[in-house]
Amino acid sequence: MKISVGAHGLVIPEVVDIPYIEGDGIGPDITRAVKRVVDEAIDISYGNEKRIVWTELLAGEKAISKFNTPLPDDTVKKLIEHVIALKGPLTTPVGGGFRSVNIALRQKMDLYANVRPVKYYPGLPSPTKNPEKVDMVVIRENTEDLYMGVEFPSNSKEAEMVIELMGRFGYQIRRESGIGIKPMSRFGTERIARMALDYAIENGRRNLTIMHKGNIMKYTEGAFKEWTYEVAKNYGDKFITETEMNGRNSAGRIVIKDRIADNMFQQILLRPEDYDVILCPNLNGDYISDALAAQIGGIGVTPSANIGDIHAVFEVAHGSAPKYANLDVADPSSLLLSAVMMLRHIKWNEPADLIEKSFISTLREKQVPQDLAKHLGTRALKTSEFADSIVQHMGKRRLL
Ligand code: NAD
Repeated sequence: MKISVGAHGLVIPEVVDIPYIEGDGIGPDITRAVKRVVDEAIDISYGNEKRIVWTELLAGEKAISKFNTPLPDDTVKKLIEHVIALKGPLTTPVGGGFRSVNIALRQKMDLYANVRPVKYYPGLPSPTKNPEKVDMVVIRENTEDLYMGVEFPSNSKEAEMVIELMGRFGYQIRRESGIGIKPMSRFGTERIARMALDYAIENGRRNLTIMHKGNIMKYTEGAFKEWTYEVAKNYGDKFITETEMNGRNSAGRIVIKDRIADNMFQQILLRPEDYDVILCPNLNGDYISDALAAQIGGIGVTPSANIGDIHAVFEVAHGSAPKYANLDVADPSSLLLSAVMMLRHIKWNEPADLIEKSFISTLREKQVPQDLAKHLGTRALKTSEFADSIVQHMGKRRLL
């Protein structure tokens, strides 16, 4: 049965249909491994009471070969009908059509937030001294900013018209410039701000930092900061700004602060323990997500979800890594931890906890795929062996 939307949120049937997009490149290998681990965890946690019925939806290369498009309308329709989904990586087709299938999907489903928890698990290789201090969640606006793709090439009629118009406003833009437009709206900012503020409350987070470059881009990134502070005022005494604190403690309220984007890159390295939820516009979010991921073991072990008001697609943070396709060597951790986020989203917390604990035990024993093994100096497990190992650890927990 499909998930439905009730007056108090999602209604989750005990036998629930969840669609998945396998993805290109390493997608089939990691999706197979992840479905297996998730099914086993649900079986151990709930026996016959609950289960997922997985339905494959086609996108990417599989869809191109069958329907001549990487994102068939039927796939989008079914994703919308089923409310949530799990998604592997999709290769961006070269040579036109779609700028990116991933971006097109987010736009069609209005998945306006990218939520990326970045947390260190003991045993992961890290280039920093104290990776255990990293426990942040990046909430990134997904639909606006330079990612809207309003761009005109050098010498195009459109670029020349914009240059001419800017000249009338008194701005001298060099001839033959390429032009990119950076729109950021009050509507787009307010809804992502609400999502981040709600997330901080619901997940018992200590602080929320707005990451922006408003000192330079005052009416886009600066406005993003101002509008977020305005939204926070509607939450009564749940939040307190650094200015309001004036050196005193927060009296149990969630601290809301802002940092200039370049400084933020220093802060995550020098004082990671001071940062918790990071709310950012689209492009800043892109950069900081990968920088943070590098601190805790890389994008191969970072989960991600794209979320709208109702819909959510839980998906890998990395791409399709075509050189490892069908070799059974890729790391399925990002998709696995995204599936854990999905289970928590539907409040199936027992299998989510079980997977996370068994994942940690597996890492502790250095039983890891090649991307991690090469840093740890251990023998690499195949993707399927890594899944086997996590399943074995879950079995041991069942016996405890
Ligand atoms: P990539 O993430 O596929 O690869 C970057 C590097 O990380 C490569 O060395 C790759 O081998 C390695 N890597 C990535 N995931 C891994 C994993 N799970 N296990 C082991 N190693 C892993 O990025 P790319 O090479 O820039 O992109 C390849 C394709 O994926 C492109 O077409 C790109 O557009 C697409 N892409 C898709 C998504 C998505 O579906 N969300 C995200 C990023 C890129």
